[in-house]
Amino acid sequence: MKKISDYRRHVEECKALLRRAKSPEEREMLSNMAETWESLAVAREKKLARDGEAEEEERMDSLERFPRVWCNNCNKVKPMIFHVMKANDKNDHDLADIVCADCKSIIATLHTACQN
Ligand SMILES: [Zn+2]
Repeated sequence: MKKISDYRRHVEECKALLRRAKSPEEREMLSNMAETWESLAVAREKKLARDGEAEEEERMDSLERFPRVWCNNCNKVKPMIFHVMKANDKNDHDLADIVCADCKSIIATLHTACQN
């Protein structure tokens, strides 16, 4: 289950990627994603404020609000999943895969140049 801090982290990740995105498509996708994560975080905060400390799961209803992308494999617009791989021994920079939620094919991989 996702926590508010996870949502916020995804927002920051999207914004970091957005700053480095080169194509208009990437920029639009990433700003949509940042907004979606932000709205999920806000919705969850409201829910927690309402329910006290109850950490209820939000389940798949949040999927309905996920950004959608064109999937060449499905030949349809599909909800997408955002996979972030942090830089490690093998990667010298962070990677983010945009994955079709339906067929799990990778629609795009976003690379963030290591600039520091
Ligand atoms: Zn697909």
